[in-house]
Amino acid sequence: MLRPTKGKTPRRPAPKKPYNNQKDPVGVYCRVRPLSCDDEECCIEVIHNTTIQLHAPDGLKANRNGEYKETQYSFKKVFGIKTTQMELFEDVSKPLVDDVIHGKNGLLFTYGVTGSGKTYTMTGSAGQGGLLPRSLDMIFNSIGPYQAKRFVFKPDDKNGMEIQNQVDALLERQKRDSQQNVPKTPSSRQRLDPEFADMIRPEEACKADGVDEDSSYSVFVSYIEIYNNYIYDLLEETPVDPLKAKWNSGGTPLRSNTEFIPPQSKILREDQNHNMYVAGCTEVEVKSTDEAFDVFWKGQKKRRIANTQLNRESSRSHSVFIIKLAQAPLDADGDNVLQDKNQVTVSQLCLVDLAGSERTSRTRAEGSRLREAGNINQSLMTLRTCMEVLRENQMCGTNKMVPYRDSKVTHFFKNYFDGEGKVRMIVCVNPKADDYEETLLVMRFAEMTQEVEVARPVDRPICGFAPGRRQRNLAFKDELSRRLEERGGPVDTEIPAALNQLLQSFPPLPPCEISDPSDDQTLPRLIEALERRHRMRQSMIDEYNRTANMLKSMLQEMDGSLMNKENYIHQQQGQLGEKDKCIQDQKSEIDRLEKKAKMLEYKIDILQKTTNIYEEDKRTLQHELESREHRLAREQSEKKRMEARMQGMVYDTKLQWEKECERRVNAKQLEMQNKLWVKDEKLKQLKAIVTESRPENPPARPEKPQRPSREKDRLPAKRSASPSPVPTGAPVRPHHRRSHSAGNERWVDHKPVTNVELDTVMQPNLPNSIKVSTPSEKALSKADKYVLTHQEVASDGEIQTKLIKGEVFKTRSGGQAVQFTDIETLKQENPTASSRKRRSSENQPPQGDGNMQGGWTDVENRCSVAVEMRAGSNLGPGYQHHGYQKRRKP
Ligand code: ADP
Ligand code: MG
Repeated sequence: MLRPTKGKTPRRPAPKKPYNNQKDPVGVYCRVRPLSCDDEECCIEVIHNTTIQLHAPDGLKANRNGEYKETQYSFKKVFGIKTTQMELFEDVSKPLVDDVIHGKNGLLFTYGVTGSGKTYTMTGSAGQGGLLPRSLDMIFNSIGPYQAKRFVFKPDDKNGMEIQNQVDALLERQKRDSQQNVPKTPSSRQRLDPEFADMIRPEEACKADGVDEDSSYSVFVSYIEIYNNYIYDLLEETPVDPLKAKWNSGGTPLRSNTEFIPPQSKILREDQNHNMYVAGCTEVEVKSTDEAFDVFWKGQKKRRIANTQLNRESSRSHSVFIIKLAQAPLDADGDNVLQDKNQVTVSQLCLVDLAGSERTSRTRAEGSRLREAGNINQSLMTLRTCMEVLRENQMCGTNKMVPYRDSKVTHFFKNYFDGEGKVRMIVCVNPKADDYEETLLVMRFAEMTQEVEVARPVDRPICGFAPGRRQRNLAFKDELSRRLEERGGPVDTEIPAALNQLLQSFPPLPPCEISDPSDDQTLPRLIEALERRHRMRQSMIDEYNRTANMLKSMLQEMDGSLMNKENYIHQQQGQLGEKDKCIQDQKSEIDRLEKKAKMLEYKIDILQKTTNIYEEDKRTLQHELESREHRLAREQSEKKRMEARMQGMVYDTKLQWEKECERRVNAKQLEMQNKLWVKDEKLKQLKAIVTESRPENPPARPEKPQRPSREKDRLPAKRSASPSPVPTGAPVRPHHRRSHSAGNERWVDHKPVTNVELDTVMQPNLPNSIKVSTPSEKALSKADKYVLTHQEVASDGEIQTKLIKGEVFKTRSGGQAVQFTDIETLKQENPTASSRKRRSSENQPPQGDGNMQGGWTDVENRCSVAVEMRAGSNLGPGYQHHGYQKRRKP
């Protein structure tokens, strides 16, 4: 930053700058120039006063398969083709000039490709002055009446500013006037260069508000050019010396022009306030817009000549016009500038017309020009890099080194970005199709730059004198001269009278007429008188000198004490100013803290609300938890009850099954006894037949054996429906039946090894049987009954077991024979839905015809029916024994 340079004296350390945490982003504006007549296609459209839209030109679209889309870019403000120079100035430059007048620094630069209107924007043309002449004009319009006399402010060679007293300033003015070196203010606009005549119309003149009248001002301008990373002073007075070097500092040999003296490059230095400045750069004090612009124009001409002479590409140089404004408060009388270097404020506005931002390939540069172009490009590249690093540092809180020193341009403006000041950039764009791709790059840079922030400049401290001094002094002077005029003019007439008195105090001269040639008395008398007079005069002179010296020393003493007092007062004022500053700082700190407190209160409020919400949530969740726990407890007790019930049911079922099994065994026993009885009956009948065949010996009808019956008898209707167990005319079997009693039969239980073990309740229960897997005569000889357990797959896919039963007979030849008498089919089936229902509890009696009870009764009935059917039908179809598959866990 080039902050106000207070020519600080070494005896006092520079007061610490107040910490300035207010930052503003770099203000980026966009100006779209009109298309020139030979360009047809336009690729930029202003769609809003802050936004432009770029669309790829037709040719490019075709080349890249339409990969280019329309892109929009936003800026602080966009100025369309109809924007006048004045409008642009009002928005962009005026606030910067205003700042400069109030002691703050500003930087304004134009950026864009060659031909996009950077120079037009900055400098303008006849009748359409750019930002530079307008800025100068505004400064002079504002400070015009308060300007100090020339050479009162005097730049030192270390970027500081001295103050000279009136006499020294006057002497220097006379000296310079005699040398004819100082540019004279042109008396009228007619004398100006026609190239820049009438840049600003009188009605467009503007002025800053709130200019401090009790200060004295002076404007200094410098104009430099940066080409090929060398800095040249465009206002330097070059002595015409044909013998001087014919090489420019960039190393380019000159053409054969001995008249032209190439400019010497300058170096950058840092002053004691760490501000960058061009060492030894000419700073011309100017007193009016015209004079300032005249100086600019001379520099401009010099630049043109140098570019032509050195065969440079002018679009590749950066130009910097620096307007420096020095201001210092008037003394307590409001008459002269306060002779205190510490009170001088220097602010400056840099107006930069950057080189064209296009890549080197676009301009057909060759050889050394290409190398130079590379350097110029390099400086813009460095500018871009600096902005990127700055932005990254600011956004991510990193502390990367910003490479300001990589190019002269960035190094020179380092203080603006590192320190404080207002920075604005005008991005100039030409909407023609040829520039499209370069314009895209310009837009990207501009967008990025907008995100860089610069510390806001602080207000300069106010001086301790009473305001309105200048006006009071002017009023006093007016009054004095009026009064003197009233008295009849100044007091000059009194001086001859005093002289006369003095002359009269000398001894009178003797008569000096010589009439006689031999008169030798007159002359000696006269000589003596004159000598006396001479002695008197000499002693008077001595006396006068003594008195004068005395007076002088007295005056000097008084002056010294006065100076001391003044110094003391200034010191006090300085301290007062510092205290004021301190108070201001503290006020701003208080403001900041208050803001912070408000912010925190607001946050607390939000947190309180959030807490309330959470508490509410917590309550509802607890509620829910409780109700769920209740439900769980209920469900658990329900479960326990169910378990108890299930256990009861299991016990019931078990009992039932046991009863059922017992009942079946009994039924079977009964059946077997029946069979036995039938056989006996048949045997008896056979015997009777044999006996009857002998007529003389009729057999007595044997007593009919008592048919075995079960204790619990069936319903008589059912029994009568079954066929009679005593068939008449049944075939007589020629086998000898082994004797046995019912219930004590011995069985051969033939189960082939291929049989599947079925987990069913309905298994043949044959106590005391001989179990075989293949039929053997030995086993048959010991038994009188035979059963084969045969398994097959039924049509419904279920395994069906058949018990094929028969009786064992002894053949006459002594072997064993089996006569099959019965086939019993056991089949497993999936229980039906209704059959799954169980009695809910022992205690609960079944409602109506209980399903389960009905189920069991049905099986019982069917079993008995089947037994009786078999008895009637020899080897009949048998009966189906439906067993329930053991219930699996669901
Ligand atoms: P740059 O400095 O960017 O290379 P210039 O300022 O020299 O471009 O502009 C190139 C030409 O375009 C000049 O003839 C200038 O008068 C013209 N021009 C640029 N901007 C405008 C504008 N806004 N209105 C009218 N003419 C313009
Ligand atoms: Mg230009």
